[in-house]
Amino acid sequence: MALYASVIIDISHEKLDRAFQYRIPEELSGQIYAGVQVSVPFGNGNHIRQGFVIEVTDKAEFDERKIKAVASVVKDSIAVETQLIALAHWMRKNYGGTMNQALKTVIPVRQKIKAREKRILCLNLDEEKAREQLSVFHKKHHTARARLLEELLRHPQLSYEIVMQKLNVTAAAIRALEEKKIITVLREIDYRTPTAKLKQEESQITLNAMQRQAADAVRQNLRKGINKTYLLHGVTGSGKTEVYMELIAEVIRQGRQAIVLIPEIALTYQTVMRFYAKFGARVSIMNSRLSKGERYDQFLRAKKGEIDIMIGPRSALFTPFLRLGLIIIDEEHEGTYKSESLPKYHARETAVERAAMAGASVVLGSATPSVDSYYKAKKGEYQLIELTGRAASQPLPVCDVVDLRQELQSGNRSILSRKLQDCMEDCLAKKQQIMLFLNRRGLSGFVSCRACGHVMKCPHCDVALSLHKNGRLMCHYCGYGETAPSVCPNCASRYISGFKAGTQKIEEVVKQRFPMARTLRMDFDTTRGKDSYEQILSAFWGQEADILIGTQMIVKGHDFPNVTLVGILAADMSMYAADYRACERTFELLTQAAGRAGRGTKTGEVIIQTYNPDHYSIQTAKNQDYKAFYREEISIRKLMGYPPVSNLLLVLFTAKEEKAAEWAAAYLAALIRKAKVEGLKMIGPASASIGKVNDIYRRVIYLKHGEYGKLVELKDRLELFLKDRADFKRIYISFDFNPMNSV
Ligand code: ADP
Ligand code: ZN
Ligand code: ZN
Repeated sequence: MALYASVIIDISHEKLDRAFQYRIPEELSGQIYAGVQVSVPFGNGNHIRQGFVIEVTDKAEFDERKIKAVASVVKDSIAVETQLIALAHWMRKNYGGTMNQALKTVIPVRQKIKAREKRILCLNLDEEKAREQLSVFHKKHHTARARLLEELLRHPQLSYEIVMQKLNVTAAAIRALEEKKIITVLREIDYRTPTAKLKQEESQITLNAMQRQAADAVRQNLRKGINKTYLLHGVTGSGKTEVYMELIAEVIRQGRQAIVLIPEIALTYQTVMRFYAKFGARVSIMNSRLSKGERYDQFLRAKKGEIDIMIGPRSALFTPFLRLGLIIIDEEHEGTYKSESLPKYHARETAVERAAMAGASVVLGSATPSVDSYYKAKKGEYQLIELTGRAASQPLPVCDVVDLRQELQSGNRSILSRKLQDCMEDCLAKKQQIMLFLNRRGLSGFVSCRACGHVMKCPHCDVALSLHKNGRLMCHYCGYGETAPSVCPNCASRYISGFKAGTQKIEEVVKQRFPMARTLRMDFDTTRGKDSYEQILSAFWGQEADILIGTQMIVKGHDFPNVTLVGILAADMSMYAADYRACERTFELLTQAAGRAGRGTKTGEVIIQTYNPDHYSIQTAKNQDYKAFYREEISIRKLMGYPPVSNLLLVLFTAKEEKAAEWAAAYLAALIRKAKVEGLKMIGPASASIGKVNDIYRRVIYLKHGEYGKLVELKDRLELFLKDRADFKRIYISFDFNPMNSV
């Protein structure tokens, strides 16, 4: 009986986004199944192209004499799980884009690259000798070597990849230590032998009653083979990570595997080490900086079952575990779980789908669950589990709201309110640490004229320019820069200046007010270097500074035990974004920022400065009352017909000519109107809130419908219509379901 393979040709061409059938020749039978990469003759010239087999059948789709044969199986390629291919199908259907793009997303590496063995670094010296050596390194300012040795004193065996990736120690430094016989590097073969077994320090922590209850609720189901999605709502510092690890241990006991998704920015050395300390070399991490070869390594090890736990950002979701039992998504509210490139999938929804295919469970964790997830939990689609207190029963921080309008009225023009200044003084006197959080970047935000209101904008993008310290105005979308004007180009007034303060300005003010305090700044500008982000964090962790000043980046899940004061300098900033999620994001930022205070044994204090002290996102954040926030927010979403109550599909039109974008949007809008889909609401077409980026014009249509499936259907119809239209060739049209950011 003849067999046929459906093959997706591996080129990103919309027109070729369908499977082509090929005959499987006798000599290749048994080698070809779904997921295998093959070479096939393609087109009139029968050029050899590579593709993926997505299905094998015994039914020819057309005249079998005309069906070409598969040329060969691509050497050294790795077969992809059929489950991942099915997942790609699902993603393509639910988020748009092509099958090729979907396949490329779920398949981390397609070409085999020489595998690298797993290596473990072991300390060779006893503690006394090691400490002597450490002081030598310190004297010679060999900071990387010192850092590694310090870590080895804490954990006598460390994984090479974690040291390289997360401790920022170079291969050369490791080699130097190896040559001096300070450390031994165990290769994979060695480390598998029983004598070189990894000594894992047993975790000292025993779960408290609340954590135990939460873990038991999931564990019982895991044992019974009941698979579900759980939403673990635990206040900041409630010990969610300990619960995750308990559940992972259960899954591993069952001989199954776990994926842990953590936003890249929170994937720090400390976080990784918590897992490593408990599970040792069975843990692997993935991040976006890995080379092709390194990713291939991970891929192969996961597939061979040499590791049980993969920790990483969004893309780690596609780790090819064969016996996947659990997917954990920490900080599930994070916007970065939604992909910004095609297919624009959401890791949360995709995880639930993958788990369903694999017979696995999903645990979503957050102190500030997304309104989407909480809504699903309320409806019973997810099981809600709560951790209402902090783990070591430290009290939640005390929150104060300062009205900035009153502050100005009483003559204080500083960015720091009097209350905040008092608290800072107090805190510094007690030798405790402070975090100041600002929801912005650059020296000051936009530059505007106080006489005529003119705002300095980028000539290429429809956004305000930001003033930087060197006196230049920069565009954060396209990188355009110009010198800040001294007179207004519109009315020639001299009253043109920066409007709102940025992190640099705050640092100056803080230094003036507290000249003895040591400050660190973390924002867009100071974290451009490869490792600067982790360096700033570890310096603050090591108490090399008293005050950390920063943007969003500093609020993401970091745990600094000595921080007792958090100042939120302008809480309102994120409230005015042209985006229905603006208030959710504000609440989330404030609560997460507040959650940084008092993580150790000392009680924390939080000062929220705002122009809107009565706004519900500020008030509920002040009280750390998620449920109250949710009630307010969901009633507004209901009223406005926004997700999660309804569904939103964004259609974005981009074109070089303004007229072309306008025409295309109007044309499709008319088409949609004619389709008369019941219950469908259309907003637009309109210029996108950023109407122009890099001289490319952008228009949008928003479509709302109660049923997600109806929007998918509509997208399918529009895609079909666009497929053969030559007049739409120069307009790029993309779809985004329940978009995270306004465009
Ligand atoms: P979350 O992720 O919920 O913010 P973490 O898991 O990071 O919380 O825990 C916060 C802190 O509390 C960590 O330093 C952790 O080691 C500690 N912790 C967690 N559970 C316990 C426990 N049962 N007993 C003592 N300390 C705990
Ligand atoms: Zn002016
Ligand atoms: Zn620009």
